[in-house]
Formats: sequence, C-alpha cells, structure tokens
Amino acid sequence: ANSTGGLGNINNENSATDSKNLKVKLVLLGDSGVGKSCIVLRFVRGQFDPTSKVTIGASFLSQTLALEDSTTVKFEIWDTAGQERYAALAPLYYRGAGAAIVVYDITSAESFNKAQYWVKELQRHGSQDMIMALVGNKADLHEKRTVSSQEAQEHADMNNMFFVETSAKTADNINQLFEGCTQSWATSMA
Ligand code: GDP
Repeated sequence: ANSTGGLGNINNENSATDSKNLKVKLVLLGDSGVGKSCIVLRFVRGQFDPTSKVTIGASFLSQTLALEDSTTVKFEIWDTAGQERYAALAPLYYRGAGAAIVVYDITSAESFNKAQYWVKELQRHGSQDMIMALVGNKADLHEKRTVSSQEAQEHADMNNMFFVETSAKTADNINQLFEGCTQSWATSMA
C-alpha cells in the first residue's frame, strides 16, 4: 500500500523510496495513576518501573513493530504527563495523532468514567480515521475489580474502539495492545 494515500496521520520517513517503514504518532490518555507511563515503559523497555516518569516537554519514546509483510510501524508514543491539566495544549497533543490509547484502571469506576470523557475529547479533537483503543489496566488486581469487562467492551464497541485489559505489572496483554493497534492500522490502510 502507498503509505501516504489518504493517510494523513501516517508519515513516511523515507519518502517514496521506502514505503514500508511507517511512522505513527500515538497518544495516551486517561486519569493520573491508571498506569499510562508503566504501560509505555513495559512496551518500550520491557520493564515495570513505577519510579520512572516521562516528563512534560521530554521527547516521546518510540518503538517499532514489524508486520508479517515486512512493513514496519514505528510508534512515537506521547504520554500526557499531566497535560490533561492544560486544556490549551490539547489541540497540539492530538494533532497528527494516528492512534490513541485511552486507559482506565479496572479497580476504579471513576477512572472508567473519565475514560469515557477522554473518548469524547478524542472524537472532538482527533482526526476521523484515528485508531482508538480502550484499555483496562491493572488487570492483576482483579479481586478489587469495580469495572466489568463487559461494560467496557460495550463502550468500546459503541465507539469503534479496540478493547483489551492489560497489566503493566505482569506484562499481560501489553504486546497484544500494541499489536492490536498495528493490525487496526494495517486494516485501515488496506
Ligand atoms: P500514570 O499517571 O497513568 O502514568 O500512571 P503510572 O504509570 O505512573 O502508574 C501509577 C501507579 O500505578 C504506579 O504506582 C504503578 O506502580 C501502578 N501501576 C501501573 N500499572 C499497574 C498494573 O498493571 N498493576 C498494578 N498492580 N499497578 C500498576
């Protein structure tokens, strides 16, 4: 597939000579404390390190995934790092984003309510063809669960989102989350 045709959010790093290396901006949204930074660090560095924080203004972290047909997708991952407090930054944050991950904590109904708010924000500010994932994190704390998988799945379906429950702590479904995003792209590009 031509990586630029109709795909405003996917930039081809190497211009026409190599259309197989795609680059995509991915933004994370969700209440503070739901585990956004931990998810990113688990995915990018393969570790769980709650003390390591991505700070505002710092450059994004990136990670590349390969698809079966040798296409590679490089994620440039933008963690909100508290930007949710600065509404004025929102348009900048969403601009050019090809994918968004909205995270809540399965033990916090409040964080799930907030996730629904972020989904609306994405629909307002984000581009039409943005890939969106809804993520219930801290799945390892299932005995303290207050948000059912079913209600979250229903919300995801209603909003055309990919849904998965993860644990940054145990690494459960972290790769599946990013692979799911990548596959969604591959599908949207076809
Ligand atoms: P952020 O504010 O959304 O970026 O949240 P952080 O990534 O800083 O995580 C907030 C807290 O949740 C930290 O104390 C982490 O140790 C904890 N945490 C993050 N992910 C998980 C998880 O999957 N399971 C458990 N049990 N704790 C987690």
